[in-house]
Amino acid sequence: MAGTIAVDIVTPERLLLSDTVDMITLPGALGQMGILRGHAPLLSTLEIGEIILHKGSETEFIAVSGGVVEVRPDKVTILADTAESSDEIDAERAQAALARTEKMLAENPAPQQRPVLEAAMRRSNLRLKVARRHQGRRHSEGLSYESK
Ligand code: ATP
Repeated sequence: MAGTIAVDIVTPERLLLSDTVDMITLPGALGQMGILRGHAPLLSTLEIGEIILHKGSETEFIAVSGGVVEVRPDKVTILADTAESSDEIDAERAQAALARTEKMLAENPAPQQRPVLEAAMRRSNLRLKVARRHQGRRHSEGLSYESK
């Protein structure tokens, strides 16, 4: 379709999403990048961060914890280490994982353990943020925004 770009998001476990969107933003190696149809081809690694899919008036949020992305002018293919859409994130699990990691970080871990624990903390914080986006969307359904 004119003006849209195909997106596939795959993890080692499953095909999470195969869709056509107006724009996708993703956490590339050089920061959050927005991709529209016609983008120059590129390959990039992915950071721990948020994938945002813009489709008409809809916006979808996905938590991703690293991987690679291939951009072609008409298609974006994401091979993610892990990826969860905002509606399937278990916030209690993420909160528990965060508490565990914080406890281990506080207990003077071996130096080589520290970056591993810090990455785990970033994943849990991200999952909590993306899960909240889903709740925010549900709460705003049927309500009009009021400016403060
Ligand atoms: P945990 O200690 O809770 O497993 P983790 O950060 O170690 O957290 P990962 O290794 O990143 O977990 O992910 C393992 C698998 O579990 C992946 O398939 C990932 O998509 C899924 N996953 C992890 N945390 C959550 C969550 N809070 N909600 C839904 N799926 C999750």
